[in-house]
Amino acid sequence: IKKIGVFTSGGDSPGMNAAIRSVVRTCAYLKVDCVAIYRGYQGMIEGDFKPMDARSVNNIINKGGTILKSARCDDFRTYEGRKRAHEQLLNAGIDAFVVIGGDGSFTGAMIFNQEFNFPVIGIPGTIDNDIFGTTFTLGFDTALNTVVDAIDKIRDTASSHNRLFFIEVMGRDVGHIALNAGVGAGAEEILIPEENLGLDRLLESLKRSKKSGKSSSIVIVAEGDKTGKNVFELKEYVEEHLPIYDVRVSVLGHMQRGGSPSCYDRVLASRMGVKAVESLLEGKTNLMVGVQDNRLILTPINKAIKGHTKIDKELIRVSEIMTT
Ligand code: ADP
Repeated sequence: IKKIGVFTSGGDSPGMNAAIRSVVRTCAYLKVDCVAIYRGYQGMIEGDFKPMDARSVNNIINKGGTILKSARCDDFRTYEGRKRAHEQLLNAGIDAFVVIGGDGSFTGAMIFNQEFNFPVIGIPGTIDNDIFGTTFTLGFDTALNTVVDAIDKIRDTASSHNRLFFIEVMGRDVGHIALNAGVGAGAEEILIPEENLGLDRLLESLKRSKKSGKSSSIVIVAEGDKTGKNVFELKEYVEEHLPIYDVRVSVLGHMQRGGSPSCYDRVLASRMGVKAVESLLEGKTNLMVGVQDNRLILTPINKAIKGHTKIDKELIRVSEIMTT
C-alpha cells in the first residue's frame, strides 16, 4: 500500500479531527502518502482530494466537527456511484482508505471492499456509542461532558423554582448517553430504550421524590426511549396525573455533537489512527478499530454494524441506588 485516503462520513462527532490528524501523521511517520477526501463518499465520487503531509493537520486536535466536512451521499448506495468512486481513487493512486464514521459509513465501506477488493479500515466516530466492537466511540466522552454541563445548569434553575425537568438527550436507539450522563449529573430518573420500566413507576418515583423533600427533579430521557411518549407528551402526562409539579422540557439537540473534544477522545483518536494505518500496512482489511479494556482491538466490519455495545447493567443498578 502506497497511498492511503482518509475521510469522515455520516454524522460528525468531536474527536474526528484528532483521528484525521493521527492518520495523516502516522502515514508521514511510516512514509506512506496520505490523501484527504472531502465530504465523505460524495467527495470520493467527485474526486475532491487533497494530498496531506504532517503539517496539513497542525492545530486541529482541539477542534470539534471535521475539517474534511461530512456528507450523506445517496449515489454511493448505487453500484454506478461506487464504481465512479473506485475510478476516482484509482486515478489518484489511492489504494486503501480509512473511514471515520458510523454504521452507515461502515456498511458503505464493506460493500465497496467486497465489490472492488479495496482495503478499508473503519474508525468509529459517533457520540451515540452505538457500535459493536468498541466500548467507546469517538465523541461519546465529549458528548457526556457537554450533557452533564448542560444538566448542571438546568438544575440550578430547576431548584430555584421547585420544578421538574424532562431533558431529552441524543443516542439514537441506545441509552448510553442518557445512562452515563444521568448518573454523572445526578438525575432522579433515567429513561432508556434498554429498560422500559413503565409510566407508573415514573409517577411513583416522582411522588416519592417530592415527599422526601427534594426541591427539584431531573428526568433524563433518551431520544430512543420506549415509553411511547416523547418529552412533551411526558410533561402532559405527569401534569395530568401528578399536578403537584411544575414541569418543563428541554431538548438538548445538536449542541451535543459539537465542542472541543475531551482529552479522552483526543487520546483515543490518536491511538485509533495509528492502529488503522498500521493495520492497513499489515495487509488487514474490512475491519474496525475499537477499544476494549483499554486495549485496541479489531472487529470485522460486518459484525461491528450488526450490533451495539451492551448497556452496562451494573451502571443501571448504581443509578437505581443513587436515586433513593
Ligand atoms: P453514519 O455513518 O453516521 O451511520 P449514514 O447512515 O448517514 O451515517 O451513512 C453515511 C453514508 O454512508 C451514506 O450517506 C451513504 O453514502 C453511505 N451508506 C450508508 N449505508 C449504505 C449502504 N447500505 N450502501 C452503500 N452506502 C451506504
